[in-house]
Amino acid sequence: MSKIGINIATGSLQQEEMIVGIDLGTTNSLVAIVHPDTQKPVVLKEYNGTALVPSVVHFGDAGSVSVGDEAKKFLITEPQNTIFSVKRLMGKSYNDVKDHSSFFTYKILDDDTERLVKVQLGDRFYSPIELSSLVLKELKSRAEHILKTAVNRAVITVPAYFNDAQRQATRDAGKLAGLDVLRIINEPTAASLAYGLGMKKDEVRTVAVYDLGGGTFDISILKITSGIFEVLSTNGNTYLGGDDFDSAIVKYWQNELSLPDEELRNDKSLAQSLRLKAEEAKICLSSHSNFESSVRERTVSLTKEEFENLARPFVNQTIYCCKSALQDAGLTVKDIEEVIMVGGSTRVPLVKKMISDLFQKPLHDSMNPDEVVALGAAVQADILAGNNKDFLLLDITPLSLGIETMGGLMDVLIPRNSKIPTKVGRQYTTQKDGQSGMRISVFQGERDLVKDNRKLAEFSLNGIPAMPAGLPKVEVSFLVNADGILVVKAKELRSGVEQSIEVKPQYGLTDEEVEKMLMDSIVHAKDDMKTRALVEAQTEAGQIIRTTNNFLVKNREFLSPQELVNTNNAIANLQKLIQSGTKDQIQTAIESLNEISKPYAERLMDEAIGKAMKGKNVLE
Ligand code: AMP
Repeated sequence: MSKIGINIATGSLQQEEMIVGIDLGTTNSLVAIVHPDTQKPVVLKEYNGTALVPSVVHFGDAGSVSVGDEAKKFLITEPQNTIFSVKRLMGKSYNDVKDHSSFFTYKILDDDTERLVKVQLGDRFYSPIELSSLVLKELKSRAEHILKTAVNRAVITVPAYFNDAQRQATRDAGKLAGLDVLRIINEPTAASLAYGLGMKKDEVRTVAVYDLGGGTFDISILKITSGIFEVLSTNGNTYLGGDDFDSAIVKYWQNELSLPDEELRNDKSLAQSLRLKAEEAKICLSSHSNFESSVRERTVSLTKEEFENLARPFVNQTIYCCKSALQDAGLTVKDIEEVIMVGGSTRVPLVKKMISDLFQKPLHDSMNPDEVVALGAAVQADILAGNNKDFLLLDITPLSLGIETMGGLMDVLIPRNSKIPTKVGRQYTTQKDGQSGMRISVFQGERDLVKDNRKLAEFSLNGIPAMPAGLPKVEVSFLVNADGILVVKAKELRSGVEQSIEVKPQYGLTDEEVEKMLMDSIVHAKDDMKTRALVEAQTEAGQIIRTTNNFLVKNREFLSPQELVNTNNAIANLQKLIQSGTKDQIQTAIESLNEISKPYAERLMDEAIGKAMKGKNVLE
């Protein structure tokens, strides 16, 4: 049953729930959607309000919790109860953050330095996941208030350098906030999507995303190939941003006004007023050439030129990072086709000029740099909602892909959830002497036996030159391209014969069917494991029988009659058990056959070595 609602913000009838895009930032967070009427991404704002929600959580005495602007008011007055920059703690241990512990004004637990950090508030402990979930909960309820509809699904952005633990922590925070996180995407990817890059099918672009916020700087070099975003390199400084410009201005004024450090240390409110005034000056100088005002009856002033002299060393640091990122990607500035500006501090004209000079091209800076990541997340959400039919979005494989091996087992080459495009190769060999063909059956699914999975294709590699079993090297490679098409190739490396086939793995599969296949694999996991172990034992037994028989044909005269009888009995016993025995019985029978053949195999080996040594000079 689909729900119909009236969207007050957009004035349109809404058939289905919206999927929102969320920029969960270090300083500020915000939510965006693609407007159902205009098809353009927009940030969600309360009437006359701002879209930015400070990523700050305050815990009051009576157990009250506030988030956003409300909480920000307590940053100075109740630093120990007011949590900011929690993003810096996501997926981190105390050891990871201890070098910057003075940055945090609240208590971070340091008793277990290896485990994930916790924040202490009074007698309660919070994980960064819980704290982030409070910010997300606030964003969710704001979005619901503005859209007048339930918001349960979201795309959340993270920095490109976030590792798996940090991404998982972000996902968990979303879940805790009651959100189904459909996808975690990289902030630079979102910024590119907001500018419409990567939306065309055959587009290939190399992009630099320069993100200078209040307290962090990131540069990411991306390669976009037909809608697939690949991060070539990232660099940056997690403690460099617009706040440093403000501090430099405060220092400058402090000097001008001959204010000793001590006075600022003792008078926190003066220090705070100067900091806020400095930020005001900086923002003013983005569009004016002079700033003049007063702080506690003292005049403070700054010209654009003076500000630029203060800011230049910081911008130079970011340029150094950009050059390192280019080097790591194996590129030069000339290879960069697009430069995207993200973060509030990229409004500073000096920053724009220096970055445009560095890359020698105009910048993408027409969008609000505070909103661009959220807008891109909304574009991604819209694609996931299936509203953007032109865009094929298939950047992970939902089910494993593999081939059938001996005994009907599934040998997975590309596990589920692999990013595409992807390529994997594995070598196989023949089972029989002189085997000239090999059947390659391609399957999709999570079960251990191919009979329980979905068959996608089958082909034969013929013309393998006659060789003993185990000698041919057949390389089977799976390539899933950007369109989600699987190309399977098999090549015998010694002779060069090869054969390939193309399949569409997802063709005809609904989401429900994919889900069912995953569920089945969980339900049958134990049985499957047992069956796999049995089949593997059967296969091993078959191989040992074949090798022993071959040995007997060639070396019968070296065995005593008793050895011959014992060996044949053991083979017959093992052969019987392959049909009807358990895994353990087969393994015991394999062991006893080995026990019987070991003495004569060793005897023969010694003799062979002895022969080889004869007539040779062994030099010491
Ligand atoms: P973000 O972390 O991306 O929200 O960026 C916030 C930073 O951008 C803060 O340091 C702000 O002072 C700075 N910022 C916002 N607007 C401007 C502006 N017009 N000119 C210069 N800096 C700005």
